[in-house]
Amino acid sequence: MKNWEANIRKVVPYVPGEQPNKANMIKLNTNENPYPPAPGVEKAMQEFDTDRLRLYPDPTAHVLVKAIADRYGLNENQVFVGVGSDDVLAMCFMTFFNSQKPLLFPDITYSFYDVWAEEFRIPYEQIPLDEDFQIRPADYNRENGGIIFPNPNAPTGNLMPLEQIEEIINNNPDVIVIVDEAYIDFGGVSALPLIEKYDNVLVVQTFSKSRSMAGMRIGYVMAQPELIRYLNDVKYSFNSYTMNQLTITMGAAAVEDEAYFKETTAKIIATRERIKEELKKLGYIFGDSMSNFLFVTHPTISMEQLFEDLKKRDIYVRHFNSPERIRNYLRITIGTDEEMDTLLAFLREYQ
Ligand code: PMP
Repeated sequence: MKNWEANIRKVVPYVPGEQPNKANMIKLNTNENPYPPAPGVEKAMQEFDTDRLRLYPDPTAHVLVKAIADRYGLNENQVFVGVGSDDVLAMCFMTFFNSQKPLLFPDITYSFYDVWAEEFRIPYEQIPLDEDFQIRPADYNRENGGIIFPNPNAPTGNLMPLEQIEEIINNNPDVIVIVDEAYIDFGGVSALPLIEKYDNVLVVQTFSKSRSMAGMRIGYVMAQPELIRYLNDVKYSFNSYTMNQLTITMGAAAVEDEAYFKETTAKIIATRERIKEELKKLGYIFGDSMSNFLFVTHPTISMEQLFEDLKKRDIYVRHFNSPERIRNYLRITIGTDEEMDTLLAFLREYQ
């Protein structure tokens, strides 16, 4: 080993889902939205004056922050935006989880949490989900330096009722609790009202799923102004210009079209419920996902083999090698009705 190697921050990186780009593929592996962004987004892009690119963007991303604040009935000082929720979550880890006590999160959850914890040298404990892949709030009554979980959880899709989230918060008034709501718009109840009641709670959401803008990279945090101030202090000590001009403009245009948002999320929910019925008939087993994906297994079919066989037909889904408990599961994003029918036709033959 060379001497300088001892000084390197070594990390085992998060592995994002594949981004193949084949004609006629069916891409159900990264929980993207199958519908295009709101029509106003395209218009904003066409009308964008490229001469503005000479200038640095507004470091506060005011136009976007205001659009989000207005949409959720908040003040602008209660909103923080970043380059996807991955960016805002990383900022949150850096800002709020600086304890010697362990950060708590579920054992089966978004696989970026342990990566950030390792990267920022945050001690952590992974709390096992119960046998039905549910979070047990009582398990979070232990000494800790912070708590984070997605709701609905990923990759299970299971939703925790608001009362249980509040139970966790009530039992942990001395640490920051982050609710990662990447998938909340597909039938869940948001914990947003809790930010008015508790000064230690942050709710994180994203434009990547329900607003069809994964490629644009916009995520945001909603919390009391004091927490947003702490986040901004860290952000300005890291990179003042996280949001570019075009993202700010197009993001604001996306939030303004509430009707389109409602229509497309309702379509995905309806498709999901229909697919649940069809998969049940084929013997697949899964929880009652309230997200834009299903987490499925089968008593007799190897999910790893199915994953490979689907891929050969250019149908991409996600398989996780760990933890062991979820090795025989596949996470299938809800696509259009047509895409899901092609998948179902394949699965009917595959029995
Ligand atoms: N949280 C959860 C639970 C997720 O599944 C994802 C998607 N990979 C993210 C956050 C990050 O999404 P994005 O950075 O696209 O907002």
